[in-house]
Amino acid sequence: MAVRWWCWRRARKPGNKIRMAGGGRCNFTNYDVSDEHYLSHNRHFVKSALSRYTQWDFLSLVQRYQIPFHERDHGQLFCNDSSKDILDMLQAECRDAGVDIHLKTNIETVTHDPGGGFTLRCEGRNWRCQSLVVATGGLSVPTAGATPFGYRIAEQFAIMVWPPSAGLVPFTMHAEDKLRLAPLSGIAVDATVSCEGHSFRENVLFTHRGLSGPAILQISNYWQPGLSVYVDWLPDTDLAGALTEAAHQHPRQQLKTFISQSLPQRLAALLLDEKLAIMPLGELSNTQVAEAGKGIKSWRFNPAGTEGYRTAEVTRGGVDCDAVSSKTMQAKAQPGLYFIGEVLDVTGWLGGYNLQWAWSSGWCAGQYV
Ligand SMILES: Cc1cc2nc3c(=O)[nH]c(=O)nc-3n(C[C@H](O)[C@H](O)[C@H](O)COP(=O)(O)OP(=O)(O)OC[C@H]3O[C@@H](n4cnc5c(N)ncnc54)[C@H](O)[C@@H]3O)c2cc1C
Repeated sequence: MAVRWWCWRRARKPGNKIRMAGGGRCNFTNYDVSDEHYLSHNRHFVKSALSRYTQWDFLSLVQRYQIPFHERDHGQLFCNDSSKDILDMLQAECRDAGVDIHLKTNIETVTHDPGGGFTLRCEGRNWRCQSLVVATGGLSVPTAGATPFGYRIAEQFAIMVWPPSAGLVPFTMHAEDKLRLAPLSGIAVDATVSCEGHSFRENVLFTHRGLSGPAILQISNYWQPGLSVYVDWLPDTDLAGALTEAAHQHPRQQLKTFISQSLPQRLAALLLDEKLAIMPLGELSNTQVAEAGKGIKSWRFNPAGTEGYRTAEVTRGGVDCDAVSSKTMQAKAQPGLYFIGEVLDVTGWLGGYNLQWAWSSGWCAGQYV
């Protein structure tokens, strides 16, 4: 039987998020992909799809289209030129498969037909299909066309949706902290950021609204309101040991001068208590060394919140994976209805993992519809 593929999109252009991805260079996958790079209430759900359509499969497609790419830190793969290369490749694949892409088309309702299949109502027209693949993404970046429509479809078919929230997103600060951190705006520091037993070592960036940078975006996936976040500003340094050694060599050097050799002066001033900052190294007591260690190796802050969906790269939560087959992506209780990509309760780390999930889950569903 000949299969016809239709794809409906609200947006004016296809692949808005691919265009935006990786700052316009699309971090399309990662050399190192495993279930450990994902969050979901069902930890095992991603394993099957990721092992059947892997990063190597997507990479071989990229290579077949001769798209120039390069590797950055942590195995992240980016286009050399533009995200458009990936988008053009996907559109070419769609053309080969005979997919009709309908842009500027908002799907309004979905109904299950008594004899099987589905009817979609959009812009005054009805479309009938045997299989319906919901790939409506999450709520991040509403200006790129994000809607909660996929969640509503799931709920309509009695499938649970884990409450969505912004992920891979900068933190905002309480007014008092914002004032204290304001002079640091623009500074970026390589640090280890931790929350709830998870740690990431990458840059932390001070902004005029709060804290951002890759380490902050990564940890935001694990943060919940009310939790504290800890930063080790000198992850390669045994501070107590370094202070003991420096106290022998330069006993009169002030603590802030010593710390400013490794951290920006303004940051050192923020992390150290004023009185402690001017103490000569040779006069530091054990308690004061411990206090300095707390401020620099385990600096604690309580985010006021996040910047929300306006700047978030992903949405945490979504369609319950327990209600979906990990092999086919088909809803267990509703034959013909599939969920793929970010609409599901699957959230990847920063580093090409969210797109790889979209490729892997999409490919798996494609084998069965
Ligand atoms: C700024 C930014 C940068 C990113 N960079 C990266 C990166 O470099 N690497 C990476 O791995 N991930 C990145 N991500 C995340 C990644 O883009 C997403 O996880 C991925 O696009 C999800 O794919 P999807 O197909 O599930 O959903 P989406 O790409 O969000 O597509 C969903 C589509 O459904 C449409 N839609 C929604 N409701 C309706 C409706 N009612 N009717 C019709 N159409 C509808 C939307 O308009 C949209 O076109 C980035 C995200 C953002 C926001």
